[in-house]
Amino acid sequence: MTTVAAYAAPAAKAPLERTTIERREVGEFDVLIDIKFAGICHSDIHQAQEGWGEAIFPMVPGHEIAGIVSEVGSGVTKHKVGDRVGVGCLVDSCRECENCRAGLEQHCTGGGVGTYNAIGKDGEPTYGGYSEKVVVDENFVLRIPDGLSLDVAAPLLCAGITTYSPLKHWGAGPGKKVAVIGLGGLGHMGVKIAHALGAEVTVLSQSLRKKDDGLKLGADHYYATSDPKTFEELAGTFDLILSTVSAPLDFGAYLSLLKTGGALVNVGAPEEPIALNLFSLIGGNKTLAGSMIGGIAETQEMLDFCAGHGFGAEIELIKADQINEAYERVLSSDVRYRFVIDTATI
Ligand code: NAP
Ligand code: ZN
Ligand code: ZN
Repeated sequence: MTTVAAYAAPAAKAPLERTTIERREVGEFDVLIDIKFAGICHSDIHQAQEGWGEAIFPMVPGHEIAGIVSEVGSGVTKHKVGDRVGVGCLVDSCRECENCRAGLEQHCTGGGVGTYNAIGKDGEPTYGGYSEKVVVDENFVLRIPDGLSLDVAAPLLCAGITTYSPLKHWGAGPGKKVAVIGLGGLGHMGVKIAHALGAEVTVLSQSLRKKDDGLKLGADHYYATSDPKTFEELAGTFDLILSTVSAPLDFGAYLSLLKTGGALVNVGAPEEPIALNLFSLIGGNKTLAGSMIGGIAETQEMLDFCAGHGFGAEIELIKADQINEAYERVLSSDVRYRFVIDTATI
């Protein structure tokens, strides 16, 4: 075991504080990573506050990890010391179930293991990226392409793949009108990726406060959803809408913005259920779908895609002692557009 410094929530809703945790010995197929940067995802906050249900404490959140390999096990073939690598929301899965075999490890039915707030195959709780080092099976470690700096690459490991996967799956591309609801961590990556895929992109944000940024990120249009005229003007407009909102929304109102046959894909994970009048789906043969992160191979594809298009995330780099303040800012939609922890400050 190796003792490493980390930031942890000692209990639900308690502020995060500096502590130490134990990392397992590097096994035959393990990679030891010196973590350089860790993104703050809104999912970290949902879980640290037990908003999704009972969680494991102390909790070291963080599933947007970028760093450098510092040791590999004797059986490791995919990574070597000095490689620039990333880890996302998954650190293990059964590798045998139908989903694992289809490259959908995030839906493993045989014992997938989350990067934190989960129990690993060794029976110990997993701890995430707000820490100095992590030991991960080589199959769950991604290559960060040379063109991407590690700090702006870190958020791609969750925000990037969570938007890339549904945008690809639902056909965002040339000739398609795509709207992204919510310009936060996921939303700003959704805009960049949908634009890079060639779609005509509209941001649907609560206000026009971030309009200039949205247009610079690649949006063609930008509307405030607080203005009821937005819903009249955009009725029947979009082929695809991606909701990245962390709170319950009136999905019926957003479904009215789809063309006939259009799809609203939700990736937001609010803590409360929503009510929906199903006539908003029946009229116009519309689809309401969900999507959860993405598999390992697709995550690598996404990293290569972003590097190929020359972009990472827009980040605000913070010191570890600013994590609690950053959480407050995320909760008040005051993030531009991902907080990333410089783990040298832990
Ligand atoms: P974030 O940075 O806080 O962004 C969410 C954005 O939603 C905010 O910036 C805000 O954008 C908008 N918003 C917030 N509250 C709202 C409200 N009450 N009404 C309307 N809009 C509101 O969060 P994130 O890290 O992108 O994560 C977003 C959600 O996705 C979270 O629930 C997270 O847990 C979930 N998530 C899901 C997956 C998955 O696999 N499906 C993966 C990662 C995260 P504007 O200011 O532009 O309105
Ligand atoms: Zn996340
Ligand atoms: Zn599986």
